[in-house]
Amino acid sequence: MRLHCLGTAGFHPNTKRHTSCYFLPESGVLLDAGTGIFRLAPLIQTDTIDVLLSHAHLDHICGLTFLLDVFYQRPVKKLRIWGEAAKLDAVRTHLFSELIFPVELDAEWLPIDDLENFCAGDANVSWRPQEHPGGSVGYRLDWQGSQKSLVYLTDTTGDASQAGIDWCGKPDLLMHECYFDDSMIQWAEKTGHSWTSRVAEITAAVAPKKLLVTHVNPLIGTEPVTEPVTEPVTEPVTELADENLAAGKKAKVANPLPGDFQTQCDLIAAKVKADVLLADDEMVVEF
Ligand SMILES: [Zn+2]
Ligand SMILES: [Zn+2]
Repeated sequence: MRLHCLGTAGFHPNTKRHTSCYFLPESGVLLDAGTGIFRLAPLIQTDTIDVLLSHAHLDHICGLTFLLDVFYQRPVKKLRIWGEAAKLDAVRTHLFSELIFPVELDAEWLPIDDLENFCAGDANVSWRPQEHPGGSVGYRLDWQGSQKSLVYLTDTTGDASQAGIDWCGKPDLLMHECYFDDSMIQWAEKTGHSWTSRVAEITAAVAPKKLLVTHVNPLIGTEPVTEPVTEPVTEPVTELADENLAAGKKAKVANPLPGDFQTQCDLIAAKVKADVLLADDEMVVEF
């Protein structure tokens, strides 16, 4: 099986990462629908796309509005969006409110609340509630034919209970978020996210073949902003707007968070038997 990382950041994009979105082209399954979804069209192989929403925070849903362009480039026959009923209602009422995004999305909206298992593409899916502000869910996908399995746990402080570990059931690929390092555990608990030693503890207990560290904090490892880059523009000029075009002095801002995620992954790798990979946009993971 192949997993394409379309967006690997939490919260907001930075110059290297878009927000959470992962795609399994053989099954036509998307895990979350963050801004990375704009990369989807050339990867589609199926006539049905199933989107599994972990929850309705913006970094996981705002790409749903980009699907009109994605399906213009590569039409599909059916779009199905799965998630908890309250989260689906929130997305439909607010994100697809006429005042925010005036075009209706042609989709089946499918609440998972009363379903223990359901099928998305050729995968059998089960889910489990997680601790996060407003709640989120983790998904486990099993493929009968290939006997492969994947567990996707994001936007959670991490569940190290025996029931949580047993539910994961030694998957081929564990995708677990790690938004903070151990110096920011208080922030992690306050915002409902995971930290390095917590992810190591859970991975050691779950014993997957591979761990993919996801939902990367976009402030970590980015370039600090130090000096003003240009003088203000005084003459009227015509320029085509472009990212990073400086039309005036840049304000001084605080440096990004220290550290880097590869170091956090190395710390996790030292404590677990699994292969540990740091998710990166446009990376393809085989499992
Ligand atoms: Zn998030
Ligand atoms: Zn969230």
